[in-house]
Amino acid sequence: MNLVIFGPPGAGKGTQAKRLVHERGYIQLSTGDMLRAARKSGSDLGKKVAAIMDAGNLVSDEIVIALIDEQLDLNKKAPGFIFDGFPRTLAQAEALDGLLARRDTKVNRVIRLNVDDAALLKRIALRFEEQGRDDDNPTAFEVRLNAYNEQTAPLLPFYESKGVLREVRGMNDIDAVAGDVARVLDLE
Ligand code: AMP
Repeated sequence: MNLVIFGPPGAGKGTQAKRLVHERGYIQLSTGDMLRAARKSGSDLGKKVAAIMDAGNLVSDEIVIALIDEQLDLNKKAPGFIFDGFPRTLAQAEALDGLLARRDTKVNRVIRLNVDDAALLKRIALRFEEQGRDDDNPTAFEVRLNAYNEQTAPLLPFYESKGVLREVRGMNDIDAVAGDVARVLDLE
């Protein structure tokens, strides 16, 4: 199973991805987590992306595609992958198709978590208070939401045309959303 968990920042992608890791043994590939780890380690990559991330902008396609390529190689025996926060641009989506085709596989499902903007703002304000993630500050969050609307949301028709896109209402509580995600994965 190659699942893309899709939605704006704050939609609950990471939370749902972690549930699937726990329940199904899939590997979560979160480019955001990988980039944050690079920053923490003080690597050249981390230094290169720090300012871009703090401002809420997207890092280059080349960087995140290379991170995913590397992880696919490192986890050859995984029963499935959950792509979380990747792809975020059409170039990344096309590259992902290529990376998977090279390994004789493909994107099987894209689950879009639907959450309205007012709820996102509330969730992110809370996360900012609780976790102090720099890019959750209101200015950076606005940039991130714009990046989603302008560069990432256009992937929806790309995946719809492939017949793999499903929608799950992300406004419900975590367990209810997880139940809907499981139904989409099991029933179809
Ligand atoms: P996230 O944790 O997924 O919200 O990602 C945090 C930040 O990391 C984003 O605001 C971007 O700066 C960067 N980032 C994560 N994933 C990607 C991606 N697929 N393409 C470009 N930038 C990314």
